[in-house]
Amino acid sequence: MKMIFLGAPGAGKGTQAENVSAAYGIPAISTGAIIRESVKNGTPAGMEAKSYMDSGSLVPDKVVIDIIKERLAQDDCEKGFILDGFPRTIIQAEELEKMGVDIDFAVTIEVPDENIVRRMSGRRVCPDCGASYHTEYKPSKDGESCDKCGAKLTTRHDDLPEVVLSRLKVYHEQTEPVKEFYNSRGKLLTVIGQEKVEDTTALTMKAVETGRMLATGRVE
Ligand code: ADP
Ligand code: ZN
Repeated sequence: MKMIFLGAPGAGKGTQAENVSAAYGIPAISTGAIIRESVKNGTPAGMEAKSYMDSGSLVPDKVVIDIIKERLAQDDCEKGFILDGFPRTIIQAEELEKMGVDIDFAVTIEVPDENIVRRMSGRRVCPDCGASYHTEYKPSKDGESCDKCGAKLTTRHDDLPEVVLSRLKVYHEQTEPVKEFYNSRGKLLTVIGQEKVEDTTALTMKAVETGRMLATGRVE
């Protein structure tokens, strides 16, 4: 199964992609996490991406497309995958199609802007392994260090309130049209984001199951 998760920054698509990844045994690929890793390692792609990311803009299509091509060529993608945060522009969506990647469906998680801004202020990430947490909705066990590797959690620079506002603007202008791209192909499923993460998880699981049935034509 090949699926895409769409949604505003902070809508919870990363969390849901992880849930679906665990439930179906397919990798969740976050371009944001790959880019942050490249920035940390100081690779050429990382150095080019850093300033865009820090200001809340999108990283140039070419950089991200190269990253995704390399990642999808790896063995663990053979049975399928979840794309979290890609495509984020129409050009990226078209490029994915040109690569011959046949997406089964796209799930969009809808959350109003005012809730996004509130949520982002509580987001925390692990600087070492990339795991993400939220002070209110998904706290780590002790509230300050990573459950997976023990590193001290940090706030992403691009989660600062003023940067969040520009990321939302970028989302509405450049990424929202991608919903229509998949809708016009009969492949868009909409999930209304809920206050509680587990409620959004239940709806997301339903959407993925529906997408799977539509893609295979089988109710199992
Ligand atoms: P969020 O989903 O909360 O916005 P991500 O971790 O997915 O966070 O992305 C963080 C940043 O990484 C984006 O604001 C953008 O600068 C860059 N990025 C990630 N994916 C893409 C993409 N597909 N195209 C362009 N830039 C991207
Ligand atoms: Zn960690």
